[in-house]
Amino acid sequence: MRRQESWDVVIIGSGMAGLSTAIWARRLGLSTLVLEREMQAGGQLTAIRGRIVDYPGLDLPEGAALTERMLRQARQAGAELRLDWHANGIDGATLTCQTSRGPVTGNSLVIATGLTARRLAIPGEEELYQRRLIRRPSHDLPWFKGRRVAVIGGGDRAVENALMLANTAAEVVLLNRSDRLRARQTLSEPLLAHPCIAVRFNTQPTRFSADGDAVTIAAQSAGVLVSLAVDAVCVYIGNRPNSGLVQDQVELDADGYIVTDRQGRTTHGGIYAVGDVCTPPAFQSLATAAGQAMVAAKQIALDTRP
Ligand code: NDP
Repeated sequence: MRRQESWDVVIIGSGMAGLSTAIWARRLGLSTLVLEREMQAGGQLTAIRGRIVDYPGLDLPEGAALTERMLRQARQAGAELRLDWHANGIDGATLTCQTSRGPVTGNSLVIATGLTARRLAIPGEEELYQRRLIRRPSHDLPWFKGRRVAVIGGGDRAVENALMLANTAAEVVLLNRSDRLRARQTLSEPLLAHPCIAVRFNTQPTRFSADGDAVTIAAQSAGVLVSLAVDAVCVYIGNRPNSGLVQDQVELDADGYIVTDRQGRTTHGGIYAVGDVCTPPAFQSLATAAGQAMVAAKQIALDTRP
């Protein structure tokens, strides 16, 4: 059993928000530990395979390049990062984080656990995930070669992945539940103009069924029940916050996001939250997460210094 450790700041999550907080906390002279449950850092950044466009002054080819820069900067600043450390619970009274490798205590805890992809919750979906017929091109692009693919959703992520698939898959059809795409114009315009991508508006899947490697999607399309035959499905319908770790300690909003004040303080003293796990601002972006991190780190320094 490890000896209990104590840090000025313990950050849970190493995505954009967590690493930004670590860089700022070190700049302010606070000893800083970042815990990441995965084997690699970066959180949602690892899934961005297109250009990073929502951070002024930065023009990088994909999320991995940004993660690499952030990691280098955090380590040079003196932050410690531990991969494959699962945070299992938090004792708010002692600001102790129980982890898969023993307890870690901070003068402040920062929740930067981000989001998890939302599911459609329709019959057949779970089976498709288990059989790996719902997949992510960003993780597995060569597998899609020559296959017919349905992409569900109309946000940036759905459109970015549909565009990525268009050069590899045999056919791409994007199913959007409303009559307009949510994705930014710089993505939606190329999608709508692309000769190899069909877009079906007002179309909502209601059931998946698989027969061998063939997938049938039953969907409501403008009030009519339709059926589509594909080889694979990609679901990009947004995310839900990973706030379960502190659900009994801090206030959450109706959608499960952590409620914070403008300085990143939760309703529990000493526990802060940054990034996508917090009640979302009007528009979420990498730049917003970095800004939240800076504000929270400065507030932590003010709150904890004598
Ligand atoms: P979004 O929340 O932006 O979009 C979700 C999409 O899924 C919408 O089209 C929504 O439709 C649809 N949807 C939601 N629920 C359902 C449902 N039950 N059935 C069918 N469709 C549904 O999520 P994204 O993952 O696309 O993006 C998340 C964030 O990440 C955004 O802020 C985005 O800008 C950012 N991002 C940035 C990138 C970059 O900088 N390169 C790349 C990818 C993402 P409706 O519009 O009708 O609600």
